[in-house]
Amino acid sequence: MTNWRKLSKDEQILRVQKALKKNVNFSNDATLGYPASKLDGKVFYSDAPFLTDAPVLTTFVSNPNHIGCHTTGISESAFEGTHAMEREALDLIAIEIFKAEPGKYDGYIASGGTEANIQAMWMYRNYFQKTHNAKVEEIALLASEDTHYSIAKGANLLMLDLIKVPVEKYSRAIEISNLDKLIALAVNQGKKYIIVFCNMGTTMFGSVDDPQVYVDVLERYPLSFKMHVDAAYGGFIYPFLTPDNKLDFRNPYIHSITVDAHKMLQAPYGTGIFLCRKGWIEYVLTPEASYVQGMDITLCGSRSGANAVAVWMILTTYGANGWFEKIKVLQMRTDWFCHQLDLLHVTYFREPYMNIVTLKASHIPKSLAKKFHLVPEKHETENDWYKIVIMEHVEVEHLNSFLTELKAVRSITA
Ligand SMILES: *Cc1c(COP(=O)(O)O)cnc(C)c1O
Repeated sequence: MTNWRKLSKDEQILRVQKALKKNVNFSNDATLGYPASKLDGKVFYSDAPFLTDAPVLTTFVSNPNHIGCHTTGISESAFEGTHAMEREALDLIAIEIFKAEPGKYDGYIASGGTEANIQAMWMYRNYFQKTHNAKVEEIALLASEDTHYSIAKGANLLMLDLIKVPVEKYSRAIEISNLDKLIALAVNQGKKYIIVFCNMGTTMFGSVDDPQVYVDVLERYPLSFKMHVDAAYGGFIYPFLTPDNKLDFRNPYIHSITVDAHKMLQAPYGTGIFLCRKGWIEYVLTPEASYVQGMDITLCGSRSGANAVAVWMILTTYGANGWFEKIKVLQMRTDWFCHQLDLLHVTYFREPYMNIVTLKASHIPKSLAKKFHLVPEKHETENDWYKIVIMEHVEVEHLNSFLTELKAVRSITA
């Protein structure tokens, strides 16, 4: 991780100022053609003194539009200063974290994981349609039952069938024999093209799929398939902790990845990341988008450049080593918490390179779960699990007060 350096506050401010100078300035320049040009001056003060030391807020108020994708083709020239910063942030994520080769990927800062996931399935659906003459009924999405509901949402929008594979209750691993049965059935029903969604950290368990399980089964059937990684939750933690990441661009089956910056990276909401191999994003080209310079090959259309600058700021505030240290602390805290649970004989699931602990609900009194704001797997029906996410603000002290109360009830019921 050589190019991911930590920058000083002054270096960051200078870089952002330089970028904003290269953008059109709505306050001074004559800009006649853009609809949302300047933010309402009665509400957003562009001369507030605190803005000088706050690069993300300055960018927010100057309101650059990052519509489209800036890693390929020509981009809207009015905002080329901050577009370059978006490319710098994407380079750090795609190359340093997910091992893409420089210049061999495309991507953009999306509104979140949902959008990035839908962008991926849209891209693969069109690819199968355009290059294989596939009919929509012949294409299916494939994902585990622990997969985020945005996959079901996207399947509904794009009119694709979704095959949900059951997982084993305590390991959360894909049930291989059931996977095989479901694929055989799908082939019998006329499916020829499969879009696989692999999880790098499911929302409820933090479980990580083994992509080879899918590959081994799918290759036995007359099918064509492509793989996407949903790293919305785990993308900024798992790759740093695992000694053997099978879910990045070194894996030839994987063509795209979703990461959320508004989860582990702690960027403002509305900040996700879509990445794919070079040559793929063009499958979603909408030729009608001709008023946008270059081409709009993204799902969302207009979006704020401030989100891209926020990602850049967070990454350069830590640098590769600083980020690793931060994540390592969370891992150690999670290890410690799991050890305490072992002593109390509480059943839980935990992926060793993630910071989520999912507790068996029958071992946790409802009142305790409520008091400590644990998140249940199901809100309406019978709930089997509660999760605890060990973030920066979840300190050993907080975990300890939870454990003390848990210990009291466990010793009564034991
Ligand atoms: C949160 C999450 C999403 C959806 O992301 P949004 O940013 O809320 O749209 C998708 N997949 C996983 C695994 C997630 O944890």
